[in-house]
Amino acid sequence: MDSKPSSLLITDEKHWWLDRMYLQDAVRAAKRSVDPNTQVGSVLVVPTGIGVVVRAWNAVPPKLLQAGYPIRTEEKNYCTEHAERAVIFNAIRNGLKTDGMTMYCTWASCSECARSIINFGISRVVTFSALVDGSSQHWQDSVFHGIRMMRDCGISVVGWRGDIGMELSMRFGGKKITEKDLI
Ligand SMILES: [Zn+2]
Repeated sequence: MDSKPSSLLITDEKHWWLDRMYLQDAVRAAKRSVDPNTQVGSVLVVPTGIGVVVRAWNAVPPKLLQAGYPIRTEEKNYCTEHAERAVIFNAIRNGLKTDGMTMYCTWASCSECARSIINFGISRVVTFSALVDGSSQHWQDSVFHGIRMMRDCGISVVGWRGDIGMELSMRFGGKKITEKDLI
């Protein structure tokens, strides 16, 4: 498939500082996730990079939690909203138009999230190349299809390589990762 992680765009000089800053923000959002296996954070930023910022992380929605979900651990995937969709919903709930916004996310979007990103007019997605490469077998197909669909719809999918100048320490695929894992 031609949507291998290596085909992600590289951060250019113009975006470097903003990308670094908002990836830090996405990591801080990810750390708020209580998911025992993987923490993912996402941030939406206006096209100029200076303006409204909406954050979210992978989580079971409050109403489902109140209703007692997930009842069993294996139901977690049915109940959990991915960070990418959660941040879009947050933006809409706050009356924002997401067209042309940039999404920063700590992991690659699955195909379901990619469809939402396409549908809601996000124009640029920035994530960590090394974590895309490290996607588990279970998610690989979905992630690669997501990347391909976004790219085919004209979205710039950018992969950041290297640390972002902050301590990382978050859960990814059941293990603790650090800034060294971003290289
Ligand atoms: Zn997803």
